[in-house]
Formats: sequence, structure tokens, C-alpha cells
Amino acid sequence: MSDCIFCKIISGDIPSAKVYEDDKIFAFKDINPQAAVHFLVVPKTHIGSADEVDEANSDCVAHIFKKIPVIAKSVGIKNGYRVITNCGPDACQSVKHLHFHVLGGEQLSEKMA
Ligand code: AMP
Ligand code: ZN
Repeated sequence: MSDCIFCKIISGDIPSAKVYEDDKIFAFKDINPQAAVHFLVVPKTHIGSADEVDEANSDCVAHIFKKIPVIAKSVGIKNGYRVITNCGPDACQSVKHLHFHVLGGEQLSEKMA
């Protein structure tokens, strides 16, 4: 997607603080962190949101969840983390490329919304 900021981060056209990359996924620090550690994990294939995950493209989601514990450990998260995906306007999704926020490195609030 030529106008997608996360596709441009994946291609390297926009710089990012990369924390992990393989053939299927890319992970980078959130530019506006909401916790002591906050990174995003995205599929390299453009998927608009969780609402667009289906039989044909869901493999990358399983792969993301396999890699999140590995990446979390590599960035120093030791005592748990929260994984969030915002989907659609009511959830305030601002970038229309499926992404999982991983937040940790400190005690997080009990509130999720
Ligand atoms: P969401 O509101 O769930 O769509 O999350 C989008 C996230 O992308 C926000 O937390 C932003 O801070 C983050 N973000 C936007 N642009 C960049 C960027 N260039 N590099 C890193 N994170 C970004
Ligand atoms: Zn994209």
C-alpha cells in the first residue's frame, strides 16, 4: 500500500527503531510510547485491521503471537506485558495496517479502556 505509513516503515522508506524482523513480520518501537517499553508488531503483508483477518491471511497473526514473547524478552521485559490491537473508529485505530501494541517494563494500569 503506497500511502500506508507502516508499509513505508517495513520497506525502510520511513526510519524506525527496529527491534525485530523476519520474512513475515516487523517490530519497532512506538514513536509515542504509552509505557516504559512500547513496541509495535506488524505483518509485512498489508492487512487493514483485525477486522480483515481471515482464513487466507491469519498465519501471520499466529506467527506474531509466537514471536511476541521472544521480542519482549529481547527488549528487557521481565514481568509481564499487555498486547493490544485497536480496530476501527470506536477503538481509535489511527494507522490502518494491522498492528499489535506490546506494553510493559513497568506496572500497568488495571484499566484497559
Ligand atoms: P493505533 O492508534 O492503535 O492505530 O496505533 C498507532 C500507533 O502508531 C500509535 O501508538 C503511534 O504512536 C504509532 N506510530 C505512528 N507513526 C509512527 C512511526 N513513524 N514510528 C513509530 N510509531 C508510530
Ligand atoms: Zn500497510
